[in-house]
Amino acid sequence: MPKRPLLMIPGPIEVSRGVVAAAAKHPSSHVAPGFIEAMGRALENMRRVWLAGADSQPFALAGSGTTVMDMAVHNLVEPGDQVLVVNSGYFSDRMAEMMRRRGAHVTEVKGSDGSDGFFVAPTVSDVEAALGGRNFKVLAATHVDTSTGVLVDAKGLCRLAEKHGVLSIFDGVCATAGERFEMSSWGADVYLTASQKAVGLPPGLGLMVASARALEARSALSVAPPMSLDWQQWLPIMKAYENRSPSYFATPATSLMAALDVALNEMVGDGKSMDAVFSLHKRSAEAMRAAWQVLGLELLPKVPAEVAHTLSAIRFPQGIDGQLMGAIAQRGVIVAGGLHPKLKASYFRVGHMGDVLLRPQDLERTVRAVGEALNALGHKCDTDMAAQAMYEILRKTDR
Ligand code: PMP
Repeated sequence: MPKRPLLMIPGPIEVSRGVVAAAAKHPSSHVAPGFIEAMGRALENMRRVWLAGADSQPFALAGSGTTVMDMAVHNLVEPGDQVLVVNSGYFSDRMAEMMRRRGAHVTEVKGSDGSDGFFVAPTVSDVEAALGGRNFKVLAATHVDTSTGVLVDAKGLCRLAEKHGVLSIFDGVCATAGERFEMSSWGADVYLTASQKAVGLPPGLGLMVASARALEARSALSVAPPMSLDWQQWLPIMKAYENRSPSYFATPATSLMAALDVALNEMVGDGKSMDAVFSLHKRSAEAMRAAWQVLGLELLPKVPAEVAHTLSAIRFPQGIDGQLMGAIAQRGVIVAGGLHPKLKASYFRVGHMGDVLLRPQDLERTVRAVGEALNALGHKCDTDMAAQAMYEILRKTDR
């Protein structure tokens, strides 16, 4: 049987065997004792992964990242509110559009327009200057925008939101459980993600944690959210499962929820800390970047501090185009094309998050597939040296 291709797009990602096994079981009742225990434990563990306080509220529901983005918007914002969106790419555009559809007045602080072929996020001081102007209720930012590979200064933005008395929403879909985020000590109000990224599940769950302040803001709304997105509908359900009792509003995705329990237990069970998870992502990203550099490749983010650790957005070198992704796939590794509306024909993306990071041989397989595909298309580069550079970083930081 041919070897299964290695899935190295920035989500869905390769998941652990334990997660595959849990998701593949016969579905259980949503009120079965075993399921109640699994969902209750998963919700508790979400606080550990999010580094969130006891007064915060985790929500896990069927849907995707987009579902919980809409959930955050509809529970914190109502028609006429002023909101500020820190725009670092395609998914920030989406957040701004959702806010508009909810009837908010949206101010966007944009990064560079990409006209020099690179991307730069707006700075915290750009955002501060914009915040001064109006009476904003919410600041929203994309922790890592998957379209640009840009990481924003989430801690700095949290501090700013607190200083200005503004609620903060962070889209962590391509960051949560990969990039450091300290929900409670940084004072964030909503941090959301989807199951198919660094959390390490198949797609199908939307995950978010809301602060006590955010829940109060929902209670104060005069225009309720759509029922399926309403925190007030979901709150008693989440609380019931955490208290290990059955409850029903809308049927949970039982197989995925059981898999979530396994994934989070692998991550933070037995007292394991998120520090190890964050540093594994950082070290792996540095190793992959060392390889890209040897292959003569440049990244789309221009500012080194803004380069995400969960994926690489890599500019095509001279003479190479979108054929590259197919040539890499022929070598057994699946990577993704560009996504930023203006720049998408000029780069490709490689995800490096979750379970695959525990297998350096799979990272090497990726580096070799990219290097060999580049050579086949006429960009001469040294694949062996690139793999070596990758291992050097992995070894150096292991000590
Ligand atoms: N935000 C970001 C940063 C994303 O990467 C994605 C998905 N790639 C989304 C939001 C939307 O998530 P989903 O596709 O699960 O709806």
